[in-house]
Amino acid sequence: MPSEKKLKEEITLLGRFLYERGFFFATTGNISARMREVVFITPRGRCKGELSPKEISKISLKGKVISGEPSSEWRMHLGIYGVRQSVKAVIHAHSPFATFISFLGKLKILRFDAYSETHLGEIRFISYFKPGSEELAEAVAEAVGKNPESDIFILKRHGAVVLGKDLKEARLNLERLEFFARLFWLIKGYKI
Ligand code: 13P
Ligand code: ZN
Repeated sequence: MPSEKKLKEEITLLGRFLYERGFFFATTGNISARMREVVFITPRGRCKGELSPKEISKISLKGKVISGEPSSEWRMHLGIYGVRQSVKAVIHAHSPFATFISFLGKLKILRFDAYSETHLGEIRFISYFKPGSEELAEAVAEAVGKNPESDIFILKRHGAVVLGKDLKEARLNLERLEFFARLFWLIKGYKI
């Protein structure tokens, strides 16, 4: 298991990586990682591509702030860790193609490409709730708990939430989703 220092550095580097590759824009998105009974999470309202490790907030699994100012979506992250023990990292992103898919509500007449068919798993949609709200956190926790085989969730008119056993797996799930969503748009040429 990585040390606290290492985990904060990993989150910072991942924020930069996702920002530079166009998964995060402006101040959108957040990243967290669980270490035993605490969670490290990006700070609220900041550009996640320009953070330093000391800005990463530390909170207890019960929501007590230990240091820093946690993301406005902290309840959503904690809710996920609460219902699925195997999850150790969560990324929420407004990546453009995943967000495009979030307007469709569901993926009708869906055909997976060969890679997505074997690597993506079931994508679940969650109704719209105000970003940062308790209602959103509850809806996400419910969906994650009910769908133990899914690691990719779409928040309607908002973005995506991806899970992993570590930060790398969560990042790969986000890349898989964005790749698939982009392909879907290219193939279907959807009009909303
Ligand atoms: P935070 O900067 O508070 O993490 O919010 C970003 C976001 O995407 C809210 O949904
Ligand atoms: Zn958001």
